Amino acid sequence: MTIQWFPGHMTRAKRQIQDKLKLIDVVFELIDARLPQSSRNPMIDEIVGPKPRLVLLNKADLADPEANAKWLGWFRSFGLEALAIDANSGSGVKEIPGRTKALLSDKIERQIAKGMKPRAPRVLIVGIPNVGKSTLINKLAGRSAAITGDRPGVTKGQQWIRAGGDLELLDTPGILWPKFEDLEVGFKLAATGAIKEQVLPIEEVACHTLRWLAAEYGGALSERYGLSDIPPSLPDVAAAAAVLEEIGRKRGCLAGGGHIDYEKAAGVLLRDLRSGKLGRITLESPIV
Ligand code: GDP
Repeated sequence: MTIQWFPGHMTRAKRQIQDKLKLIDVVFELIDARLPQSSRNPMIDEIVGPKPRLVLLNKADLADPEANAKWLGWFRSFGLEALAIDANSGSGVKEIPGRTKALLSDKIERQIAKGMKPRAPRVLIVGIPNVGKSTLINKLAGRSAAITGDRPGVTKGQQWIRAGGDLELLDTPGILWPKFEDLEVGFKLAATGAIKEQVLPIEEVACHTLRWLAAEYGGALSERYGLSDIPPSLPDVAAAAAVLEEIGRKRGCLAGGGHIDYEKAAGVLLRDLRSGKLGRITLESPIV
């Protein structure tokens, strides 16, 4: 299923989320820890408004631990509570209910002061496709409560899911869109697999990624592919293509006539990146 993100669609997605905001106490903004900026929706502040929000850097298991710490600090510096999690294994997930209650402590205390029994916080999870919303819902619920898989735009009857007595989750997460018009963002989203490979030429995605990897993770590249002296600065796509060619040669990605098959080499690199075989990698650092 492909989704065209035209403006009307974005307006509808925004309205759907805003309708759901009326039902809930807190928003979990799920982002990809490898791309904490590019995997966010640029209008998120406007969409969520003053509703309490917990930012969850998911797939933290694939991201650089040092970068995770930097990004958490960056979000907190803007007054946003943030946690690094791995929704697949559940690492960090058990901290979520406690952090949520801390975020809502004023409201909870007001309810207690009025003699009311505080009810379980009601939660809406929002995030771009493939960021791990369904995986997190399942993990929090402790059973297969939501269907995992990339199904943007699919809606079903809305239900509340009890999560360990601590939270109540809306079963249909809010689907946000990334900032498509920025090509750099597009390359990064394609590199992590957040947008489909067909959208951008895979060799170009690989070359853009290589420029970042050479600068920040040159050692990991050399080690994985047995390459020596990768310059930390690949000044242009041609320089990156030369490294991709080397990777292709080392991995036997050959086209006819002894030429390197760049598409295959790009596939090798991106698969290794996405699966963590290149190590834990973050593709952008906070702008301070
Ligand atoms: P959704 O479209 O936002 O609902 O995303 P899904 O929950 O379907 O997850 C997309 C893919 O990311 C699936 O293959 C998940 O197994 C994977 N995934 C989700 N969370 C994590 C995580 O924390 N770490 C890793 N390594 N993979 C994850």
